[in-house]
Amino acid sequence: MSELHATGSCLCRGVIFEVAGALRPVLACHCSQCAKTSGNFAAMTSCPRENLKILSDETLRWFRSSETVERGFCTRCGGNLFWKQTGSSDIYITAGTLDTPTGLKISEHIFVASKSDYYDLTDGLPQKDEW
Ligand SMILES: [Zn+2]
Ligand SMILES: [Zn+2]
Repeated sequence: MSELHATGSCLCRGVIFEVAGALRPVLACHCSQCAKTSGNFAAMTSCPRENLKILSDETLRWFRSSETVERGFCTRCGGNLFWKQTGSSDIYITAGTLDTPTGLKISEHIFVASKSDYYDLTDGLPQKDEW
């Protein structure tokens, strides 16, 4: 767990946020929905929802990608920022939108069974077919 007080934004800074407290180690999600929204696999950390403070939501919009999941993205620059599931008290944040240094590391690969064929996973980290 990172003890850093994290800050982040999308590329155009229409969405700016900060996180109080720790962030979880980064999950690399290889599902097809993350690929379609991120253009590649999605690297995501998370925190309790109450620890995420969105300082600017000028261009933030939520897309319901499945019955229980919403994805937050920037309508101006296209940045993929947030992922939240109905009933969960956590919110996921794409690690690439955090300002550096993040102090975080990828801990595992998930939904590996759905990953695209143009890359291989060779870092030796745990791989799960689903979550
Ligand atoms: Zn933006
Ligand atoms: Zn995914």
